Formats: sequence, structure tokens, C-alpha cells
Amino acid sequence: MHTSHHLRQILTAAGICILFSGSHVMAKDMSPAFAVTLDMQGTRYASHQAATPQHAQQEIKLRQQVILQKDGQFRSVSESVWPGNIRFQFLTTGNKDGAAAIDLLKWRQGIEIAREDATEARKEYADLLFLSPALLLQQASAMMPAESTDMGNEKYQQLNFQDAAGRPASMMLERSSGQVLSAKSAALTYEYANYSRVKDYAQPAQITVKNAGKLVLQWKISTEVAEHVDAHTFDLPAGYVEKQDKGALRATMIAPGTYRVDGSESGYHTAFSVGSHSVAIYDAPVSAAEAAKVKALIEQTAPGRKLDYLVLSHSHRDHIAGAPSYIQDGLHILAGKDGRLAIERQLGQTVASKVQEVTSVLDIDLGGRSIHIHPIASSHASDMLVAYDKSTQTLFQGDLFYLPEIGPIPPVFDVGLELESLITQHQLQVQQLVGVHGRSGTFTEFKKALELRMTEKPAAEKN
Ligand SMILES: [Zn+2]
Repeated sequence: MHTSHHLRQILTAAGICILFSGSHVMAKDMSPAFAVTLDMQGTRYASHQAATPQHAQQEIKLRQQVILQKDGQFRSVSESVWPGNIRFQFLTTGNKDGAAAIDLLKWRQGIEIAREDATEARKEYADLLFLSPALLLQQASAMMPAESTDMGNEKYQQLNFQDAAGRPASMMLERSSGQVLSAKSAALTYEYANYSRVKDYAQPAQITVKNAGKLVLQWKISTEVAEHVDAHTFDLPAGYVEKQDKGALRATMIAPGTYRVDGSESGYHTAFSVGSHSVAIYDAPVSAAEAAKVKALIEQTAPGRKLDYLVLSHSHRDHIAGAPSYIQDGLHILAGKDGRLAIERQLGQTVASKVQEVTSVLDIDLGGRSIHIHPIASSHASDMLVAYDKSTQTLFQGDLFYLPEIGPIPPVFDVGLELESLITQHQLQVQQLVGVHGRSGTFTEFKKALELRMTEKPAAEKN
């Protein structure tokens, strides 16, 4: 255990110009506003979100721009493209006192601002610092005394420290170069490669992120540094509103015998149809705990009816994770083609044994109410199911059409066109479309979203 002396040598070798005076650390060449901008392109290996049930993982293309200021101010814009060409684009900006995130495409989160308190904001900043080992090392040394472990090895040195949110972390340094080779946060391991220097700042052009040894992310990074960035860089754009209270967990009747669950903790909507003897439930988000509460609500809303069918729109984790809470004698779980495979992989044999795969249109009878289940080989998930109640002209779907809770109608993604052709092909008369995400929409709103796609192509497609 040698601390400051060894660390000073390493930091000096790292060229980050830190002067120690006692426990006080000063940066010679970096002003408090010193900022690094990372333009990142990468791949995320996402579990349980694949386009087909046969695959456990899906490669997701990512772009991210991160601005990290030494004083804890940060901004990140991240973009990802998921199966079905569903795009996310979020902006997060914050400092030590708090952070805010908005949806730049205004569909998933609409125009609502998601606020984070100081604790969460510091964690977010701390996580982002792992993308800049030079700033990470500087932050670690500022939290002196850091503990340096002699590896009994002349080449490497391990440094144990607390990250910017006060969580235990460590890094591995190469003595000769002073470069950080890897770092370990509370959850993840970062491996740094292809260092280059921008002025005095050393940045790896490649970062590999692993979770318990398993590859989760790969980044290619180009870097700019600046003594100052315009303070307005960290502003939120106009046109966004504070998040609205969604109220307590409740079943909202949207048509006779037809309910949507509102006010869940995750914000996801389960829906259900009630007949004279049984109930069909659409999707089981997002955890067993949340689904247990929703199940109790359904039983309360439809007393004496049998929970007969759980219809899973597709086998992505967030839509099915609550299924174990519905397991009881006589329950049928309806899933699309090969859905059982993905369900067994994620939730085990007990849940999988209840699964019946739907490969052609199936009518289920709830007693005076019949529901049609339509399989659709969607580009988002090949095991997609859409449910349709002819008596109320209500269509239930997950991830094919989105309206935000609050905000204007966004253009549909590719999957919206797939839903439109299903509706056309089966000549379904639709009054209302109920989604797992966001508010329910009328058929007119769906048509509007289809039109917007024709007229408002994303910037990338205009070029
Ligand atoms: Zn999905």
C-alpha cells in the first residue's frame, strides 16, 4: 500500500499534470470547465430483445455524443436503432445538483422531461467518466487517499478508488506509460485501447464494456477537448414540459368490457377484455412484482371470472417478465411462432409449459365476447401477435404503433406499416388502438401517424 508517492509518479507519467499539496489536488492545465467531447459509434449486445425468438441477443447500432466537464457538468445524446427500425434518441444533461432527460424524437417519452435528483445525476456522471480514463484518473486522485495495490508486478499497478458517486471502483495502470488499461465500476468492466493524444489529453479510441465477463458494448470514439464550452450547451431545448403525475394504479374502462391499466410504476399498460366467464390479458410487463399488482387489480375489476388467456404481443423481456405472476391452473399463454423458445429461455419451463403458439388466426371465447388473435411476422419481432375485439372494434398491440402519454402524434416506424397491412388484409374495423406504451389512439390518429411518416422523414433519410 503506497498511496500518494506512487500515484504521483503514475499521474505524471499519464501526462495529466496534477500537483499535489498534501491531500489537496490541483490541475495545472485543466480549468474547472475543461471539457472533453466524445463522438462515439458502437454496438450494444442487447439481451432478450432480438428480432426472432431463436436469438437471445440482438446487435443494436448506437451513436452517442458525450460532453464531460471536469466540474461534473455533462450532456449526452444517444441514438439507437432496434429491430423494425425503431429509433430512440435521448438527450440527457446534468450536473452535481440534478439531471434531466428528454426524448428528441418525442415518441416514447413524448414531450415530458424526466428529472433525476442529485444522487442519480452524480451516478450518471460517474458512469460517463469511465468513458474518459484521463478524467477518471484525475477524479480518482482528487478523492485521495486512493489505495494503490502493488501487483507484485513491475509492469502494472492496480488503483482502488471511489467513483464520482462514491461507489467502489478500480483501475489497472501500466507503469511505463501511466495509461489506464482497464477500469471496473460497480457493475461493468471497461477495457481501453488505441490511445491517442489530443493536446495533453490521452483518450482511447476504442472501449470495450463487459458485464461479468460478457461483452455488452463496443465503442469507437473520436475526441475533442476544449477549455470552455458554451454554457448553453447544457440547456434543454424548448417545447418540453414537466412530467405529469400518472395517478394510482387503476383499470380504466375504454369500451364495454375493455380495460387498460394506468398508473403502473413502469408506465407500461397491460390491457384486458372481460367476458361473461373469462378474461384475456394483453402482455405482462415488466416484472413479476408489477404483474402481481396488476393481476390483483384485474381480479378486483372482473370478479368471478377466470383468468383464461395471457396474450403476449411478443417475447421481448419487458413485455413478458410478469408472466410468472399469472401462472395458475387452466391459464393459457398465447405466443407467436417459436415464442415458447424465447419464453423458456427467459422464464423457465413452468411458464413455457403453459404456452400455446398461435400460427394462424385464432378466436378465443370469453363468454359473449370473442377475441381474434392475429399472428404477424413483424420485423420488430417475428413472433408478434395482435389481438382484436370485433364487438368494440378495439385492437391491442405492443410495439407496432406508439403514441406518447403527452405530446403530438409521432410518425410511425416501419412496424406501423406492418400493422396497417394487417388491418387492411383482414379488413378490421378499428375504432381504438391500445398500446403497451403510451396513450391509446383512435384510428384517425393512427392514419395521421402513417401520413406523417410519408411527409416527415427523419433527417438521416432526407440526405
Ligand atoms: Zn419489443
